[in-house]
Amino acid sequence: MFGAERHHAYNRVLLSTVLAGGLTPESIRLHDTEWAQTHRVELRTGVAVTGIDVSTRSVHLGDGAGHRYDELVLATGSRAWVPPIDGLLTDDGAHAEGVAVFRDLDDCAHILRLARPGSRVAVLGGGLLGLEAARGLVGRGVRVSVLHPVGHLMERQLDAGAGAVLGATMGRLGVDVRLGVMAKRWTPEVGLECDDGSLLSVDAVVVAAGVRAETSLAAEAGVEVDGGIVVDDRMGTSNDRVHAIGDCARHPGTVSGLVQPGYEQAAVLADLLTGTDPSARYRGTPVVTRLKAKDIDLAAVGDAHAEDDGTSEVLRLEDPHRGRYAKIVVRDDRLIGAIMVGVPDAAASAIQLHDSGAPVPSDRLALLLGRALPSEAGGAIRPDSPARLPSAAVICRCNTVSKAKLVAAWRAGAKDVDALSRVTRAATGCGSCRDAVSGVCDWLNAAEPGEPEQEGAA
Ligand SMILES: Cc1cc2nc3c(=O)[nH]c(=O)nc-3n(C[C@H](O)[C@H](O)[C@H](O)COP(=O)(O)OP(=O)(O)OC[C@H]3O[C@@H](n4cnc5c(N)ncnc54)[C@H](O)[C@@H]3O)c2cc1C
Repeated sequence: MFGAERHHAYNRVLLSTVLAGGLTPESIRLHDTEWAQTHRVELRTGVAVTGIDVSTRSVHLGDGAGHRYDELVLATGSRAWVPPIDGLLTDDGAHAEGVAVFRDLDDCAHILRLARPGSRVAVLGGGLLGLEAARGLVGRGVRVSVLHPVGHLMERQLDAGAGAVLGATMGRLGVDVRLGVMAKRWTPEVGLECDDGSLLSVDAVVVAAGVRAETSLAAEAGVEVDGGIVVDDRMGTSNDRVHAIGDCARHPGTVSGLVQPGYEQAAVLADLLTGTDPSARYRGTPVVTRLKAKDIDLAAVGDAHAEDDGTSEVLRLEDPHRGRYAKIVVRDDRLIGAIMVGVPDAAASAIQLHDSGAPVPSDRLALLLGRALPSEAGGAIRPDSPARLPSAAVICRCNTVSKAKLVAAWRAGAKDVDALSRVTRAATGCGSCRDAVSGVCDWLNAAEPGEPEQEGAA
């Protein structure tokens, strides 16, 4: 296993929490040398693969060495995209003075060096990453402006109504949100000039303008690339000895840039390469996006952009003064999309309904209000009854901890929420699943002294 970063693998999703000061870099580490030895992995950190020779089945390494393979797995992720704005990059393509991106641990440390309490920072991009960075920095006493070229925040996941509620909430938390504005030129001594004629005298610029799949190795080796490395349901590429998973892979119908598809793809590929399950196939992952920002509860599920076109029902509840917005899109009695801002109970129900594919309760409005517990008669899942959750249900999305993992940890001796968190890392990310973990724990403890009854019955 070769990794270009000098660090051992860590949970990248939790970098936002590190930036906000809620976690240390050490606490998000996923493995170390001991892990590698125990699992008989030959692990080389700080070593980039610089080329692939598919004819000899070998890779070239940055330290000049080479390495043969029988099967090659590309998990090269994605990299931050820097838009062509004057002054952001030096002539040799490096980040200019005062400019940072937000992709890895070193970037995180760089941002924290630039953004001292009391300093002024512009964040380019009001998507998920930019907003998490902005919220984290404001919490550290930095004065932050977010520049977003579109008319509302997080337009990929949110509609205009939800975006407006989110913008107002960010404003209340101290973030200066500027919509429909693009940066034009960055000069460290002058500041950031914008296309609306304004000049922001900021000390640093954090670029969060999107990511691009890291596909250069594959493309140079002649493996088919189209926005990402093109893969099939077996995670196979156009070369039968080369496989790709995670952000760098492009699987039809899968939204990339989120961690859960990568974990599921890795599991399928491991089953296939080891022969554990030759029938394993990856069929896509339901998309759930959560904003990990203190004092903001936001979830976007599935396709929430649909409008009421006769084939789907769209219900919306707006309470902008209290920072709340709830929208569901229902087709054939199934939830195909939802946007939930400031309504955590409704968000929990919506995520479970979307993940399980269970029928939406007939009282749609109660679901929007977070009061609806889907009718058991209809076979749906009550958010408060872990016994009915399928084993594979993901309880903690930041760390991809399923109900089955929690049950296994409980059986191995982790009998309270803190112990379950320590062992599985559940609830150590954004923390929004802590109640759910507690619910699973209570249910398991109530089932003592015997084994928990039939799990995953639903
Ligand atoms: C701050 C932040 C917050 C995020 N929050 C969320 C979230 O809440 N939910 C969510 O689902 N997703 C989130 N994401 C996205 C998530 O982190 C990615 O989807 C996930 O990390 C992709 O995993 P991966 O293994 O495919 O790629 P990566 O995690 O990018 O790992 C790829 C690794 O390969 C290395 N590499 C690249 N090229 C080479 C080479 N030639 N040789 C050797 N090594 C190489 C890279 O250095 C990198 O270490 C977040 C991302 C960031 C940056």
